Amino acid sequence: MWRATVLTIFPELFPGPLGASLAGKGSANGIWSLETVDVRDFATDRHRSVDDTPAGGGPGMIMKADVLGRAIDATAGGDRPRLLMSPRGQRLTQAWVRDLVRGSGVVAVCGRFEGVDERVITGRGLIEVSIGDYVLAGGELAAMVLVDACVRLIPGVMGKECSGADESFSANLIEYPQFTRPRVWEGVAIPEVLTSGDHGKVDSWRRAEAERLTRERRPDLWAAYQANWQFGKKNASER
Ligand code: SAH
Repeated sequence: MWRATVLTIFPELFPGPLGASLAGKGSANGIWSLETVDVRDFATDRHRSVDDTPAGGGPGMIMKADVLGRAIDATAGGDRPRLLMSPRGQRLTQAWVRDLVRGSGVVAVCGRFEGVDERVITGRGLIEVSIGDYVLAGGELAAMVLVDACVRLIPGVMGKECSGADESFSANLIEYPQFTRPRVWEGVAIPEVLTSGDHGKVDSWRRAEAERLTRERRPDLWAAYQANWQFGKKNASER
């Protein structure tokens, strides 16, 4: 069973959206599990403080290394990677998500305030993960994003096993346009090729559209796609 353990001072925010729809069914069916650890349980003072003022001055508060360290040490993570949700981290990608799904789960630490004491990051070997170049008020939404992206790839969670195979980012392409009934809506018909029943033609139309949209919208992905393609061609010619 794939396991997500989230360390947070707001455990009541979970499972939130992770309890709905197919992800919720998947955990109800024992395909994956979510548990939270309340970091505040590891505070030792009367006020159960988890934060303190930054050394060197400046605004805001910092999550304390001792409290967070105890919370991490009390979590039996096994061989699961210990992640810290952090805008300074490596950007989460679909490739990274696929990699995390191949393992036995994740332990995700959620920061709050101005962040966490650097010593707990290095001391506990936390891997910093960012979900994008913007700043959230806390790591909880970021952890939900990460777990949601992972869980939908676990076999048995999504309706069709293969529906993750040709979606956005799987081959450095974004997805082709999708349609469903009615055939004509507000005078606009579904492209004829899609209702032709010719699977070969459907596949090449979809590939061409995915390429067009990637070229128009995501020059970064388009460059990576072309580089891969060139590389594949070169390898083939050298064989
Ligand atoms: N002062 C910090 C921001 C702290 S935001 C800085 O400038 O880098 C508070 C917490 O929200 C962070 O500790 C982190 O856990 C979470 N967070 C904010 N933005 C995030 C992002 N883009 N990705 C992942 N986690 C994020």
